[in-house]
Amino acid sequence: MPAASASPLRFRDPGHDKYHFASSGTVLVRCPRCERQAQVVPEPRDAGSATPTWSTERRLVCRHCGLSRKRDRTRPIASYWYGNPEMNDPYFQAPLWLQTRTRHGLLWAYNPEHLDLLRRFVQATLREHDPWYEPWRKMGTIGRLPAWIKQAKNRDEVLRGLDRMRESLVS
Ligand SMILES: [Zn+2]
Repeated sequence: MPAASASPLRFRDPGHDKYHFASSGTVLVRCPRCERQAQVVPEPRDAGSATPTWSTERRLVCRHCGLSRKRDRTRPIASYWYGNPEMNDPYFQAPLWLQTRTRHGLLWAYNPEHLDLLRRFVQATLREHDPWYEPWRKMGTIGRLPAWIKQAKNRDEVLRGLDRMRESLVS
């Protein structure tokens, strides 16, 4: 992955809906067997055809312990945040790998691309017009972020949290 841009002042919201990062690619999770970094990936036979969606079959795979688990299709795909001490992936309900607690709340990301988008958003200082509050944006990945992530006074702490998450990717 390329390093973060050196000129982060402008942030362009790609307009992803809130499911984009969970449904279109790999989700990093904590392995339910060995607690190291594992991945929830679209099944290969589906992944080749088109952009994966919610209904694409998933498998939880761990290169550390060799776990390879197919999703139990009788369990609903569910993505909850509020009220949970940890954020889980929507397919296996395994804890997301990329999550960290701050004084204000939980920061989390489904994968490095999601983390990078959050970082670019928080680093961008030109938010005086707050277009993220435009109604049509509210349902998107960025628009739905809790207010404390968007507040300038929390910026440094949020960035530190995002840094911790990025460092955890090295393992
Ligand atoms: Zn494992």
